[in-house]
Amino acid sequence: MDLIIDGWFHERGVLWPGQAMSLKVKKVLDHHRSDFQDILVFESESHGNVLVLDGVIQVTERDEHAYQEMIAHLPLYAHPNPKKVLVIGGGDGGVLREVAKHPGVEEIIECEIDEGVINVSKKYLPSLAKGYDDPRVSVKIMDGAKFMDENQDSFDVIITDSSDPVGPASVLFETPFYNAMYKSLREGGIVCTQGECMWLHLDLIRPLIDSIGKTYSTVEYAYTTIPTYPSGQIGFIIATKGRGECKKPERQPSEEVQDGFQYYSTELHEASFVLPAFARRSIFGK
Ligand code: SAM
Repeated sequence: MDLIIDGWFHERGVLWPGQAMSLKVKKVLDHHRSDFQDILVFESESHGNVLVLDGVIQVTERDEHAYQEMIAHLPLYAHPNPKKVLVIGGGDGGVLREVAKHPGVEEIIECEIDEGVINVSKKYLPSLAKGYDDPRVSVKIMDGAKFMDENQDSFDVIITDSSDPVGPASVLFETPFYNAMYKSLREGGIVCTQGECMWLHLDLIRPLIDSIGKTYSTVEYAYTTIPTYPSGQIGFIIATKGRGECKKPERQPSEEVQDGFQYYSTELHEASFVLPAFARRSIFGK
């Protein structure tokens, strides 16, 4: 499929039939196929540089903070003392950048399947890829699901910053992967995963939450608004092992750290768990 027609990139996908997000292209910076996926980076007229995997927008420089800050800080501020953090996927480095804002975290491991994403991000998305510069970060290039099997009872927080459930990320949306994350969490640990969109994917979200609720102590759904993801919104599945709900943060950012945030705040943390009635009814049956 042609991704760019008449100077416009069109994001068309099976997970959002009949709709498309379009961005005007200034310049294509890189376009190649890695062992895992089609990788495109272009400079857009309105949203800075844009990373696209298999035809799907992953980040734009203009609105990425709405996603990276929320997927990282919802679980991290809900945990009283996170020391060891695992990021699965997240090749652009934006989640690492946010995790590194927590001075108490001692070790940050990223498990990304495709080194090609890391390489283009270091070149064309430096404001995200600066996450790799933190000395607490180490990187494993492998399938996140396999990495879990080798690391049990290890992490206080696991963040799965994955692409959509098509291609290499499809395993990351299945119950066995959530069971593997449960085993990799320490007691009192929290997972936070990219949870797709309540306007489009309730049929995927509901059964997943039902099924993992049988294993985890609590399972909740929160969301952020972000213009360049399908329908302008993306959700997070947040689940705990031996701990209560995550709606109220256990810690607050210092004034200095808060001043550096573009999106996250303590008020927004609590508000992000309040779902529109149709979504709450559909996901939680009440
Ligand atoms: N923030 C973006 C969003 O939600 O659209 C997505 C982030 S993108 C950086 C997701 C990353 O997950 C990609 O770099 C992809 O290579 C990686 N990924 C996909 N499947 C994976 C797997 N099974 N194990 C580890 N990483 C995976």
